[in-house]
Amino acid sequence: MRSKRVWKRLLGLQRAVVEDVCVEDDGKVVVAVRPKARELDRCPYCRRRCPGYDWGEGRRRWRALDLGTTFCFLEAWAPRVSCREHGVVVTAVPWARHDSSFTREFEDTVAWLAVHTNKTAVAELMRIAWRTVGWICERVMAEQTATRDLFAGLERIGVDEISIRKGHRYLTVVVDHDTGRLVWIGSGRDRKTVEKFLDLLGAERCKQLRLVSCDMAEWITRPVAERCPNAAVCYDPFHLVKLATDALDDIRREVWNEARRAGQRQLARELKGARFALWKNPGNLTERQQLKLARVQALNQRLYRAYLLAQQLRQIYRTGFDEAVALLDAWLRWARRCRLEPFVKLARTITEQREGIEAAIRHGLSNARVEQVNTQLRLIIRRAFGFHSYDAPIALAMLALGGLCPSLPGR
Ligand SMILES: [Zn+2]
Repeated sequence: MRSKRVWKRLLGLQRAVVEDVCVEDDGKVVVAVRPKARELDRCPYCRRRCPGYDWGEGRRRWRALDLGTTFCFLEAWAPRVSCREHGVVVTAVPWARHDSSFTREFEDTVAWLAVHTNKTAVAELMRIAWRTVGWICERVMAEQTATRDLFAGLERIGVDEISIRKGHRYLTVVVDHDTGRLVWIGSGRDRKTVEKFLDLLGAERCKQLRLVSCDMAEWITRPVAERCPNAAVCYDPFHLVKLATDALDDIRREVWNEARRAGQRQLARELKGARFALWKNPGNLTERQQLKLARVQALNQRLYRAYLLAQQLRQIYRTGFDEAVALLDAWLRWARRCRLEPFVKLARTITEQREGIEAAIRHGLSNARVEQVNTQLRLIIRRAFGFHSYDAPIALAMLALGGLCPSLPGR
């Protein structure tokens, strides 16, 4: 009797009874167990007590955490019950998740290791295949999301996309600005994906959203505008700065091509070398780059004008709200009549999207936090290569970045 209690303690068993322990010829420790009477005949989905159906496939084994250096398994009957709602199903057992051949403690340990260590370490230490790690992550994640409310208190979120497999596949990512947590990952980058998230969020919580930061992408902004009446959409400042840099680069290329065609080799060479000087913040320029810039000013008025336009637009993110709005007005007046087509076009875009740009300045919200999560997410997805499906790396990412990683058993 005493030793059975020791075994129970050793295995961290709760709501179960140890019946017998034996060591098999190959050294495996097999512990025969049964659920406590109160835990018998329960449906694994709704936990309701159900009438028995049959003995299923007889006795089953679950891999438990190793005991020192030896493998350990739990063994028990796995009868089937007939649930009113879920039909004929294998009965729930207190020591394992449904449809798993590992104990809960084993799976929690694997999930914890998958989040905190590398691929080889998990597989070697736990003596399982990397693919199995993927299955386990999915099960743990499913349980965590079913028992926790990940969308509680969401007010300020960032939505972004990431491409995986060299752009063959896209994921839509939602991050909570206030906690920096990954809240949701959806497959695809289109309106439907965003709508799926808003469906999950529910009408009531859509109303609670105050700010949504994103790029100027209609597949995000349209559904948000339609369903989240109280949310201000903020366009990411980096995105706007990038549009200006792109416009500047268009002009640089244009001027460079003209110079080449006109046989002005010296000018073409200098322009090519000026690329980085043009991109940098004026304050960060090296002396050499400052000289380059002075040369650009002397050599080509158009390019220098484009440079000033791009720099000036950045300024709006470096001051207070009122000044920024005034700066933006002045910038738009200038850009509209600057006779540089890419900037005239950009001025049109900014005029159309002005509300979102101003909201970002007013609330000081950028997608930086989202970008941070995305960087980590990419690393996880790369590491997860070899999993059986796309759901597995997503599960691992939610465990790691969504704050869903289980704690180690017994701690
Ligand atoms: Zn049921």
